[in-house]
Amino acid sequence: DRVISAGADTEEREIEAALRPRNLHDFVGQRRVRDQLSLVLEAARLRGRSADHVLLSGPPGLGKTTLSMIIAAEMNAPLRISSGPAIQHAGDLAAILSSLTEGEVLFLDEIHRMSRPAEEMLYMAMEDFRVDIVVGKGAGATAIPLELPPFTLVGATTRAGLLPGPLRDRFGFTGHLEFYGSDELELVLRRSAAMLDMQLNSAAFSEIASRSRGTPRIANRLLRRVRDWALVKGLEQVDARASSNALDMYEVDSRGLDRLDRGVLEALCLKFGGGPVGLSTLAIAVGEETETVEEVAEPYLVREGLLGRTPRGRIAMPAAWKHLGLSVPKDSPV
Ligand code: ADP
Repeated sequence: DRVISAGADTEEREIEAALRPRNLHDFVGQRRVRDQLSLVLEAARLRGRSADHVLLSGPPGLGKTTLSMIIAAEMNAPLRISSGPAIQHAGDLAAILSSLTEGEVLFLDEIHRMSRPAEEMLYMAMEDFRVDIVVGKGAGATAIPLELPPFTLVGATTRAGLLPGPLRDRFGFTGHLEFYGSDELELVLRRSAAMLDMQLNSAAFSEIASRSRGTPRIANRLLRRVRDWALVKGLEQVDARASSNALDMYEVDSRGLDRLDRGVLEALCLKFGGGPVGLSTLAIAVGEETETVEEVAEPYLVREGLLGRTPRGRIAMPAAWKHLGLSVPKDSPV
């Protein structure tokens, strides 16, 4: 039930797909990654070769899947989509790799969650465009080499540091996606509103942008909630007040924090006196997986100056206490 959650219904997914920018030109923000990627793709085109393997890292909803689609489109190549958790056996990966066509782009989301044997198979595939298919078991097992057509792997991960060094090193280009600024989110929203045929004034765009947690996926979701609101209330034009009224219902606060974000801060301040507290203890206190707290909630809380990571554990920054309407305790670690 998080606004950010992947468990969106079919209509939501369809709208999300419809709103995806189709080329680098329409992809808002991330200037550096965009420029670098554009160079990598242009060079590959000039050489008449498939592009180098690309690793994209960053929190969910910042555009990794979208960029993989753009890479395929710009290379005029077909795109295959799979993910680390879907590849548990080397055989799963072998089946995908052996069916790739020349120049195809293979997008592997959450690549850090692939199994070890599959990962090792991937090393060879990335480097030599070859895999060894093992047939039989025990002493009679033989490895049959299989040549692969040149392909481009686009791997996505929430943090590049989660990948083993040998895998990271095999990517020719790594792009780190950053949270988006309000101006950029407003551009995303303006583009989406035009596509959804919605009328919003400037103040409404900036209200929604400021609550979007630096994340285009959230900006688009919030926009759709505002669209529902406008429909039900019979509004032709949406202003800031209507937007904030609509969004108050979805537990995204004025700073863009959602329930999980606030849960983490509340646990940190109220249960652990502002910390320092270990990540896993904090995760248990909010009833979430350690990885979710670390990869989904924390990056934004750190960026907003609300949470600090220290060698002794997580601490609440003064702004966290203030945001929760509490006074900063005298013995606060910062
Ligand atoms: P990720 O794979 O990083 O989780 P996605 O690529 O699925 O994120 O992006 C989520 C949604 O956000 C997409 O529907 C897309 O429309 C929108 N989006 C992401 N990045 C941008 C961007 N730079 N410009 C415009 N829309 C974007």
